[in-house]
Amino acid sequence: MDCIFCKIVNGEIPTKKVYENENMLGFYDVSPQAPVHILLIPKEHITSAADISKENSLVVAHIFEVASKLSKELNLSDGFRIVTNCGESAGQSVKHLHFHLMGGRNFSWPPG
Ligand code: 5GP
Ligand code: ZN
Repeated sequence: MDCIFCKIVNGEIPTKKVYENENMLGFYDVSPQAPVHILLIPKEHITSAADISKENSLVVAHIFEVASKLSKELNLSDGFRIVTNCGESAGQSVKHLHFHLMGGRNFSWPPG
């Protein structure tokens, strides 16, 4: 399958990893939009948040657990944001489920 994030998972595309275990990966976004901008992804190809189901949702819980751990390690105690863009209107550009973990600056609400 021609998926950038599957290629990152199998090592075809190099990336700066911050966390890895058997079912998920965390790495730095190539185009950071905040001082800390990490992508957390399942190794399994799940297209978007709309495809999370009872069968594959355990990795999502794990991703949030790791996000919490990384927020402490990266000193984001002032606050951080976890975002997943799902589908065209939300601006999802990579069709492999990913959660942006962003911090180190202020964020506005509601998002644009
Ligand atoms: P989306 O727009 O789908 O919510 O987020 C996709 C993110 O993936 C973007 O923030 C983009 O900068 C990042 N990205 C796209 N290609 C690569 C890549 O090859 N390596 C890394 N590290 N990040 C990428
Ligand atoms: Zn993929």
